[in-house]
Amino acid sequence: MTKLSVVVPCFNEEAVIDSFDTEIRRTLDALPVDYEVCYIDDGSSDGTLGRLRRIAATHGDRARYVSFSRNFGKEAAMLAGLREAGGEAVVIMDADLQHPPELIARMLDLYRQGHDQVVARRTREGDKRIRSALSRLYYRGVNRWVDVELADGVGDFRLLSRPAVDALLSMPEYNRFSKGLFSWIGFDTVHFDYRNAQRGAGETKWRFGALLNYGMDGLISFNNRPLRLGIWTGAALTVLSGLYALWVVGMALAFGISAPGYVTLVAITVGLGGVQLVMLGLIGEYIGRIYYETKRRPHFLVKEAHTPAARTAAAAWHARTPLGEPVRLDPR
Ligand code: UDP
Ligand code: MG
Repeated sequence: MTKLSVVVPCFNEEAVIDSFDTEIRRTLDALPVDYEVCYIDDGSSDGTLGRLRRIAATHGDRARYVSFSRNFGKEAAMLAGLREAGGEAVVIMDADLQHPPELIARMLDLYRQGHDQVVARRTREGDKRIRSALSRLYYRGVNRWVDVELADGVGDFRLLSRPAVDALLSMPEYNRFSKGLFSWIGFDTVHFDYRNAQRGAGETKWRFGALLNYGMDGLISFNNRPLRLGIWTGAALTVLSGLYALWVVGMALAFGISAPGYVTLVAITVGLGGVQLVMLGLIGEYIGRIYYETKRRPHFLVKEAHTPAARTAAAAWHARTPLGEPVRLDPR
């Protein structure tokens, strides 16, 4: 094997990034493989970038970083990392030590046995009970609606072979839902379990609202099957209302007209209004995605980098727009 790249998205990880770097290097130095660690600073507002500069200055070829002009999200950071990575295989992992570095040895073994995606699946031990129950419920439901297989506990911690990385990079879409993309590209995939670890330091960037949005993304990122729900709901309601009309007419014929029904009317009107709004929202979600795709904006902007590839990418970008500072390549 020529080289292993480790891609690490970091957003405000000042508290843990140094210990992560020490850990990962200790692990990788012990393995019989050449490596590089690519950090992506996702527009951190704390001292993360300063620490990355120091790390890059200390480790020469074995450390590089790209720093975004603002926070573009973990998906964009992973994409930048995959573009950056020059290795024959690439490991993606979080900076907060929740992905135990020692598992890389196992991943490499499985990679050498010929697997293209080696996926670490965390058990939900130590999670809040309500959160794991909700996740389980979500994945059970969502897999009925999407074409790709989304698995509980499977995140971004994985090793990808060069063909798998190239496949991911060949997908230019703006709305990236990696969990689905990993599954969509296929290739020979193998899973193994590991015990969930708590964060090394700092705090999670996920709020409950963000998790809900993520759940929605998973549901509608991969096909238009949820739209079918609208057709089936409409059909079912039509049948039901026909039956109800028959029943009302029958009752009127048998017992005469007694015109109550205020509650029924209100319930039906409000209920139907609700269904229509939900469907409208769903259609809106799809249109919103089309809107973002058609703008064809870049997934991220680079402010500063310590890597050869970013220099060319950023130079190309600056050549097109006179705005923005030139890329600084020397660590300050
Ligand atoms: N992250 C990022 N950009 C963001 C949010 C998070 O690059 O906008 C990184 C973060 O620094 C960490 C990883 O993504 O390395 C996972 O984030 P976090 O630990 O907050 O998520 P959790 O582990 O709680 O799911
Ligand atoms: Mg984490």
